[in-house]
Amino acid sequence: MGSRRNFIRKSLFGALAAGFASRYGYASGLIEKSVIQNQEFIKPTVISTWFHGLEANEAAWKIMQDGGSALDAVEKGVNVSEANPSVNSVGYGGLPDASGNVTLDACIMGSDGNAGSVACLQHILHPVSVARLVMEKTPHLMLSGDGALKFALDNGFRKTNLLTPEAKAAWKEWKKSGSSYAPMANWENHDTIGLVAIDHNGSIAGACTTSGMAFKHQGRVGDSPIIGAGLYVDNKVGAATATGEGEAVMKTLGSFLIVELMRNGMSPQEACEMAITRLLETIYVHKNMQVGYVAVNKAGETGAFSLKPGFQYALFQDNENKLFDAPYLMD
Ligand code: ASP
Repeated sequence: MGSRRNFIRKSLFGALAAGFASRYGYASGLIEKSVIQNQEFIKPTVISTWFHGLEANEAAWKIMQDGGSALDAVEKGVNVSEANPSVNSVGYGGLPDASGNVTLDACIMGSDGNAGSVACLQHILHPVSVARLVMEKTPHLMLSGDGALKFALDNGFRKTNLLTPEAKAAWKEWKKSGSSYAPMANWENHDTIGLVAIDHNGSIAGACTTSGMAFKHQGRVGDSPIIGAGLYVDNKVGAATATGEGEAVMKTLGSFLIVELMRNGMSPQEACEMAITRLLETIYVHKNMQVGYVAVNKAGETGAFSLKPGFQYALFQDNENKLFDAPYLMD
């Protein structure tokens, strides 16, 4: 009985899917022709956002070279930025919210489509590792605030003071200036790390971690822990990740959009450009807005694009780790 029901369900689903596919041009040939599924070679790749992506890439590449998985590589890669106090938008050293608290958002996604995330988590040095545990140990995708902290502490993480003297001084200075929140386009205020990788088995994973926008409203959550916004991975197609004004990325679900555009045949570069163009087509783009994307497809082709100048990305391929200025849409 059970198997008959399954058979009926599968046939029904198959028929519906076929109807949908032919109606919308998603015939499997179209999707799979464009790189993707019958890939003949594997090109190990690590691509990440910003200058500090270089050291994160280094750690990720080493793990993959030693036979580790893309999932381990992306986690350990971004752990480096989380622990670096000079990176003022990630983990330790991150600029606090308007009340002076460092609150962290992070997510991770693997080649099996599984994902985990944490939002508004305080006092934990490696939020992305908590996100990984949410993925692996709970039936949930996201934990937030006190619940995320309790989960982290229950699982052996220790409380750390994440507010460095420099970040505290910057917050005090900001308070003196009248405390008005004004998101800036320059790189000093946007250096979330998003990192995606293809390992030697061809598996793709990604991670994204941030302390969010400097001096944000208490309780604000950005794009970085939102699957589809700050990060998306589809092991058959590729992956994308975002930095910049999270509200804009969330409104356009940028990383998911990029992966879907690649699924339908665009190169990672074309897809990143389209996702940035989409901002102008669909939302109000204020003059200080910055958004940047990086992407990789199953073949190891990469792309990067931003709304404004200044966005850099780090690419590790063929044993070389290099920093590039991303092309951009407008001055
Ligand atoms: N995307 C991050 C956020 O909106 C900010 C950043 O990239 O620095 O929280």
